[in-house]
Amino acid sequence: MGRAFVYVILGGGVAAGYAALEFTKRGISHGELCIISEEPVAPYERPALSKGFLLPEAPACLPSFHTCVGANEERLTPKWYKEHGIELVLGTRVKSVDVRRKTILTGSGETITYRTLIIATGARALKLEEFGVKGSDSENVCYLRNLVDANRLVDLVQSCPGGNAVVIGGGYIGMECAASLVINRMNVTMVFPEEHCMARLFTPKIASYYEEFYKSKGVNFVKGTILSSFEIDPDGKVTAVNLRDGSSLPADMVVVGIGIRPNTSLFEGQLTLEKGGIKVNGKMQSSNGSVYAVGDVAAFPVKLFGDSRRLEHVDSARKTARHAVAAIMEPNKAVEFDYLPFFYSRVFTLSWQFYGDNIGDVVHYGDFSGGTFGAYWVSNGHLVGSFLEGGTKEEYEAIAKATRLKPAIEDVAELERQGLGFALTA
Ligand code: FAD
Ligand code: NDP
Repeated sequence: MGRAFVYVILGGGVAAGYAALEFTKRGISHGELCIISEEPVAPYERPALSKGFLLPEAPACLPSFHTCVGANEERLTPKWYKEHGIELVLGTRVKSVDVRRKTILTGSGETITYRTLIIATGARALKLEEFGVKGSDSENVCYLRNLVDANRLVDLVQSCPGGNAVVIGGGYIGMECAASLVINRMNVTMVFPEEHCMARLFTPKIASYYEEFYKSKGVNFVKGTILSSFEIDPDGKVTAVNLRDGSSLPADMVVVGIGIRPNTSLFEGQLTLEKGGIKVNGKMQSSNGSVYAVGDVAAFPVKLFGDSRRLEHVDSARKTARHAVAAIMEPNKAVEFDYLPFFYSRVFTLSWQFYGDNIGDVVHYGDFSGGTFGAYWVSNGHLVGSFLEGGTKEEYEAIAKATRLKPAIEDVAELERQGLGFALTA
């Protein structure tokens, strides 16, 4: 038993939703496109899970954040897919893919064939066990990657009002969850190995601003160490987190955000991999001409910096998806993807955006005592990266535009003096 489609999207996350919208904009016939997803719901804006979904009052819930609301586009509800003749195969894990035969085998035993495949399998959360710590399956330990995880997190918060929450990891999940937990009146401690939060992007000065802000909201920081084990009671519940520095933190719940791994396993040995993901060209096409990859799982050429990158952010998921569909539907008009890396976060009343690359020398500018501030990165005499906290729409657009231009910077001190004004007049 099997079905045949012209186009199949494997994975039903952010990239899948934006690809579906692009297919309909460019005109596909009913019955041509199928999306297969392990998740039981239609594609949604994953960023909502660590933000609006965790609010104690009037939390965001589906269907309000189905794609593509995050980019001010149509909201693609299950009804929308039906009306557009797009087959949603939900709650279905793909077990294997044969790219030579163009066949997909699902967990329910169905074989689905395609003419063109888009891989949009995203990534999975890294588990503590991969770092030699046991206890991930304890009932009060949670990760945050999908709706099931987010529902568990909310249930846990409600099960121990005002209790002690330990957040493991000082990256995106750690920062956004810690803020949401504090808003839920939990007593929050963040633990991470680096000297400061968001170590891969923030400078010590930027990190210090956010850490002080978090402290003012009641978050405790335990830096430069990692957990070594959990204290687990006879019911299987974690009661404390033991740290490598010998100390111990009481815990009513634990949230773990220690990074991700792209879901490439179905294609290992079949497609060329790079940077932990599936290597694609400027048209998002993999080493097999009938297979494209988009979103977190794709390693694509970033023209601006002359190298290949795998980006784990929603803007690149949306744009790689749309670009792949454009290249599939109109191959003769297809141009090379030309992407400016863009990351952002929103926590409490704060909001920052970053564009480009964070290498080279850094200059900071603005008001670090609670106003608008930012930083520029200068490498080989050119502006390559820009960060801004608390900007207006126009100011964010200005730093994006200035970064894309990669202007020559002869005098870094002058750049520092001009601050945001440099981007506004670039
Ligand atoms: P995903 O959205 O992860 O979708 C992958 C899909 O593939 C899932 O539905 C999965 O179930 C499915 N799948 C995987 N394997 C199989 C299989 N074998 N069979 C069937 N289905 C399969 N980025 C930002 O830029 N800003 C933010 O504020 C932000 N917030 C975030 C908050 C959270 C809680 C998380 C987890 C991520 C956040 N991100 C954010 C990152 C952003 O959500 C991702 O970059 C984006 O979701 C990637 O899209 P994707 O389609 O590649 O993967
Ligand atoms: P990140 O890679 O952002 O951060 C992981 C953090 O955990 C790092 O600080 C890392 O340190 C630390 N870490 C690694 N191992 C351990 C350990 N054993 N014990 C304690 N800390 C450890 O990943 P996240 O899990 O925070 O986020 C998952 C994904 O979700 C990412 O793709 C991210 O882009 C995405 N996301 C994006 C958001 C946004 O863009 N606003 C919001 C939420 C999620 P080190 O650097 O030393 O490895």
